[in-house]
Amino acid sequence: MNYKPLKICPVSDLCGGCQLQHLAYDRQLEYKLNTARKNLGSFGNVEEIVGADYPYFYRNKVQISFGTDYKGRVLAGNYVPSTHTIVPVKECQLASKSANAIFNTVISLQKSLKLSVFDEHSLQGFLRHVLVRTSRDEEKVMVVIVAGSPVFPKKTGFINALLKKHPNISTIVLNVNKKHISMILGERNIVLYGRGYIEDELCGYTFRISPSSFYQINHAQTEKLYKLAREYAGLKKNDIVMDTYCGIGTIGMTMAESCQKVLAVEINKDAIRDAVKNAKINRIENIEFFCDDASRFMVNMAEKKQKVDVVIMDPPRSGSTEKFLKALVKLSPERVVYVSCNPVTQKRDLKYLTKFGYEVRKIKAVDMFPFTDHVETVVSLSRK
Ligand code: SAH
Repeated sequence: MNYKPLKICPVSDLCGGCQLQHLAYDRQLEYKLNTARKNLGSFGNVEEIVGADYPYFYRNKVQISFGTDYKGRVLAGNYVPSTHTIVPVKECQLASKSANAIFNTVISLQKSLKLSVFDEHSLQGFLRHVLVRTSRDEEKVMVVIVAGSPVFPKKTGFINALLKKHPNISTIVLNVNKKHISMILGERNIVLYGRGYIEDELCGYTFRISPSSFYQINHAQTEKLYKLAREYAGLKKNDIVMDTYCGIGTIGMTMAESCQKVLAVEINKDAIRDAVKNAKINRIENIEFFCDDASRFMVNMAEKKQKVDVVIMDPPRSGSTEKFLKALVKLSPERVVYVSCNPVTQKRDLKYLTKFGYEVRKIKAVDMFPFTDHVETVVSLSRK
């Protein structure tokens, strides 16, 4: 460890952001390795966890929410877990430094410009959340103002003040979300400044990211995660690879040069639009994207008897589906690499795959989210 641990965050007991704030970083790694072993140990040895070199200020996507207290005073910060009560946070130790600084500016602009704050009960008012995405070096920043109305009062004053204070902002988007839902982003984006997306560099490639597209939130650890996934995939020049739950195409694109072709599927249409663009930017021609439900896509591929050598799967926390796994078994790729952010659902899915013709070769955890209790694991399987 060649950094000085920060003081414990003063709001960590209330704020839901870091469940492991009170554990030293090496103890956090032990805890996560144990969680991985508890869930996946029955399939084989879980190797040493890949920790972060520096576990603070890593989140490249962060948001804060606005609301009012019982006296009607404006509050801005994170929600107390399972509630919509807001805990003000001055400096979040997980958020990028740019995000912390921009949040403080937006909070003071809300006051000075007297912008109204969205009320979740009456569905009235303007400012609801602010989301900030930063590129790896924080030279490019996207600010998404999530509001209850497309009409932005004092818009010019707000934008000018924000840009003046934070010249690294490359784009500002107004996202309209008037619905009574817990999702942060609504469907409508209005670009107020710049291009409406940011570009980032990862594993030597350039990726464009729109407001609602999924993108791994920890650059340094993602590069280690993808390297591990590539290693586990054991690619050969003639391999046909499927990148399922592909987001903006990051895993597939970093594998494309080592195989014959990549077929990638993702359900979010903005992410697929980014993915297609990203393949062009990086001049990758042997990758094809499909905007579809991954399970339906796999069933279609199995019916078409598509030849496939390696399937990469990186589903959301809920894991994959039996439909997907059944079709995967039918497609019968020689190797499967399963990247997961939830070892509980991964265990469930591995039980299926090991029952129907696959064996687990290697298991490793990567700490993508220091100070939180989230555990990311990568498992390599091969056909028996
Ligand atoms: N592999 C990518 C994304 C992983 S996150 C990366 O490393 O960046 C999981 C992705 O699965 C998200 O982009 C989400 O939009 C997508 N997804 C969720 N449900 C899906 C489904 N039923 N079919 C296809 N994609 C889905």
